[in-house]
Amino acid sequence: MGSGCSVTCAQCDYRATLELGYGMAGLGFTPMHCLDCDELVSVVSGNALDEPDVPMGTCPRCSGRRLLEWLLDEDTLEQSEPRPPLGLCPKCGGPIEISGRFIWD
Ligand SMILES: [Zn+2]
Ligand SMILES: [Zn+2]
Repeated sequence: MGSGCSVTCAQCDYRATLELGYGMAGLGFTPMHCLDCDELVSVVSGNALDEPDVPMGTCPRCSGRRLLEWLLDEDTLEQSEPRPPLGLCPKCGGPIEISGRFIWD
């Protein structure tokens, strides 16, 4: 199972939902900042079952490959009070807050 969270920018209204870790389908996701569409996205970063036809390392929204790893990992997410550094808002550069968490499979 993977974990995930909703994030909200404290400065503008930007929101995103991010997934981390591995799910039942054997795909691992890492939150990244896509420089092409300026969105936070969950990028496929691992493929445990060697599923063919799964694009790795591309933005799920625009298929761009200019991705910056965004500062969020499962340890940070598991803390009851996530501390900075989280990454910054891709729209305004403001601080991002975690507004919800979930488990996915
Ligand atoms: Zn913002
Ligand atoms: Zn993109």
